[in-house]
Amino acid sequence: MSRYLKPYFGLQASLLTQHGKEAIISPELLSTNGLEVIHVNNYDTDKLGTFTRDIPRYGSQLDAARKKARIGMALSDTKIGIASEGAFGNDPYTGLLPWNYELVILIDDTRNLEITGFYGGEAQSASKQVTSWDEVIAFLPEAQFPSHQLVIRPDDEYHPLCRKGINTIDSLELAYHWAKNLSKNGNIFLENDLRAHTNPTRIANILKATQDLAKKLNSLCPKCESPGFSVTKTKKGLLCANCGASTNLPISNIWSCLNCRHTKEIAITNQAAADPSRCNYCNP
Ligand SMILES: [Zn+2]
Ligand SMILES: [Zn+2]
Repeated sequence: MSRYLKPYFGLQASLLTQHGKEAIISPELLSTNGLEVIHVNNYDTDKLGTFTRDIPRYGSQLDAARKKARIGMALSDTKIGIASEGAFGNDPYTGLLPWNYELVILIDDTRNLEITGFYGGEAQSASKQVTSWDEVIAFLPEAQFPSHQLVIRPDDEYHPLCRKGINTIDSLELAYHWAKNLSKNGNIFLENDLRAHTNPTRIANILKATQDLAKKLNSLCPKCESPGFSVTKTKKGLLCANCGASTNLPISNIWSCLNCRHTKEIAITNQAAADPSRCNYCNP
């Protein structure tokens, strides 16, 4: 693609972030979009919420990302700002797996646009209440320790004191005795540290959300040439190969422009009819 078709080529954007996320986001946007990212870190983003429940998050995941981007733009006096925000929950398919939702936003005041990249993937977010050192050791494989770090606190998940960023057995043992001494009845609460620099699974998911954003930044509306032309809806109804009834499988994507509201339906081609196992009549 020619540089002239990349609407962010040669421009500058601020990125307000802590916890090492700039090392993933900045190179991706530079190589895919030619966008130069200025790292802003003279603001403690933990003030807008933490995963360890000490500070509740500012609004929704999107609200928090917007707020961070705006603070970064104000601090660095840029017209374009980037920020990322993660959330944890259960997977959208079975509701049984721990899931990590990552969002990376770009706010562009020169075009009056807000473009977001998303990714949802499996989370490394194990937690457990234990009473003995043996139970701590038994929990470590499930927590993928030490590649993924730990947070420890006395009693339960709501104790106001905690130690974060534990990444060696020695520091874990020290923290274990610290928590044990402070606990009321000998219980200790262990969990994965969910900050990006302590959780490589999250880093991988943030990269995928950034790649989603990068693709949207280069995707231009065929009508007004605004960036951010992307799939906003999927139409279902692929026909069953056996009986010909409509299934819940997709047949087309609806693309929309954030600027002029132009939409375009693009059929998903090169796909066979639906497998009868996905049909409500053949496989109820
Ligand atoms: Zn069928
Ligand atoms: Zn448009």
